[in-house]
Amino acid sequence: MTSSIQRTIVVTGGSRGIGRAVCIALAAPGSAVYFNFSATGTTGHTTSEAIRAAGGVPRGIRADVGSESDVSDFFKTVLDETGRIDVLVNNAAIARDALLLRMKTADWEDVIRVNLTGTFICTKTAAKTMLKQRRGRIINITSIAGVAGNPGQANYAAAKAGIIGFTKTVARELASRNITVNAVAPGFIATDMTAGISEKAVSDILNQIPLARAGTPEDVAGAVAFLASPQADYITGQVIHVNGGMYL
Ligand code: NAP
Repeated sequence: MTSSIQRTIVVTGGSRGIGRAVCIALAAPGSAVYFNFSATGTTGHTTSEAIRAAGGVPRGIRADVGSESDVSDFFKTVLDETGRIDVLVNNAAIARDALLLRMKTADWEDVIRVNLTGTFICTKTAAKTMLKQRRGRIINITSIAGVAGNPGQANYAAAKAGIIGFTKTVARELASRNITVNAVAPGFIATDMTAGISEKAVSDILNQIPLARAGTPEDVAGAVAFLASPQADYITGQVIHVNGGMYL
């Protein structure tokens, strides 16, 4: 694959939702778009088709971002096949919501492992290659919950707030090698993650959004594509909010 590929993009959690839209937004002729997912039996088939339609070369691989060995194998495949990593988007995440007193330690640990430790493991792995290249773009997907808090999401909000501190720290550590590290904080976006919310709760949320609609995966992907573009070369350590004004 190496000869025809000029840009390698890695997106975690690309089989559905925002990650899928990010894969499509970053796909272009000459680019390889690697994405992963966790579910056994998933192929990321529709993501691959859409990447191909946009002119990119797709590769969907099952790999749990919370497992060091899965992540190591995943990135080894990327490097064996293309020899480079230009953009990493840490998007994969889960939610296990419950109010604090009902939250099981296992649900706390699962969310921290996938959402926060997964971002750490993937970033550390990709950074080794980016440091050698003296160039790279890392974009972490955090959440409005990580800045404003959200009842029922202590685990998720803690992980997402952690991602912001992680982003700013790694931005400082890697800046001298021309690697930028930024975060995108979506508000309320229509995906599988929010599909189970009751009609009443959705209507309450929409009332808090000045732009008066849920965001789309493409709204978030647009901000990610900007941060991955040359127009964002001088931006690092920032959090871009994509929330229709829900948090100002
Ligand atoms: P989603 O529709 O639930 O999709 C999650 C993606 O992550 C899927 O591709 C899933 O793969 C993958 N994934 C989950 N656990 C994984 C693991 N252990 N290893 C590898 N991949 C894994 O979620 P979404 O709404 O698109 O959310 C995407 C990002 O935006 C997340 O970081 C989320 O926290 C953030 N966000 C979302 C909203 C929102 O309103 N939707 C708001 C703020 C922030 P499988 O198909 O295998 O499960």
